[in-house]
Amino acid sequence: MAEHKILIEKIKKLKKQKNAVILAHNYQRPEIYDVADFIGDSLKLCLEARETDADIILFCGVSFMAETACILNPDKKVIVPFIDAGCAMADMLSIEALRKMKKAHPGVPVVTYVNSSAEVKAESDYCCTSANAVEVVRRIEGDKVLFVPDRNLAGYVGRQVPEKKVIAFDGYCPVHDMINAEYLDDAIKTYPSAKLIAHPECRQEVLERADAVRSTSGMIKAVQEMDAEEFFVLTECGMIERLKREVPGKKFYGLCNMCFDMKKNNLESVFRCLEDEGPKVKVDKNVASKALLSLENMFDIMEDHG
Ligand code: SF4
Repeated sequence: MAEHKILIEKIKKLKKQKNAVILAHNYQRPEIYDVADFIGDSLKLCLEARETDADIILFCGVSFMAETACILNPDKKVIVPFIDAGCAMADMLSIEALRKMKKAHPGVPVVTYVNSSAEVKAESDYCCTSANAVEVVRRIEGDKVLFVPDRNLAGYVGRQVPEKKVIAFDGYCPVHDMINAEYLDDAIKTYPSAKLIAHPECRQEVLERADAVRSTSGMIKAVQEMDAEEFFVLTECGMIERLKREVPGKKFYGLCNMCFDMKKNNLESVFRCLEDEGPKVKVDKNVASKALLSLENMFDIMEDHG
């Protein structure tokens, strides 16, 4: 504990000296929260990355998030403790597979979940996050969209926007897709008073039985507002700690479904990364400028429609 305190102080001092900012995803280990300047879901972190005037962005999350920060800040140094912290869902969609899908559906706009590689974003028309996917798809002209890479989020969006045909790629997040109706039956039996709150990366059979479907940051707001004291949280297990900190008066339960890539970082590796100013995240200039357009198209929709 004393070691943690010393490291926290050292990291805070280095951040000041180097004019660095630490962005951390909600699924990070709780010790990372103690040194982060901003903690949130992909949307919140994209917005913070876009606004920051720091010289260095240290990203505590997985590679597609750090790449996004890099695309939004081509002149800043974006660093990560582990360059190999990846996302199984993002890895499911190759650029070739996306091109094949586009060829099969010529002229249909491509909406790409931010959990994707920079190359895939560059080949897309719009980006979205789990917090704004429904609004992005609703606002696009036309009656069809290609939605990649998450089939579960695509299905959820399609049910919220029935006027459009949402054609999905068959990717998924293994951490969310493992949750099924049997788990829910057990949860309901064990915690009968708990409300079920689910991330839209979960399967349809889970989302249909949830009391609320939200992005991770949306979950914090929802549990603050909902008239209930106990919640069963259907997302990556790290979210439980985040909710306990943000809403201390309520009780949270969940599963042991961990995203190991999200848990690679700890205080030691963050300190080392800041001290070395690396490893540095790099995105090819041409790819970054094309990917930026799909991100800007997402921001434009959000700005136009509040
Ligand atoms: S929880 Fe799933 S979607 Fe999120 S980083 Fe891990 S594998 Fe990717």
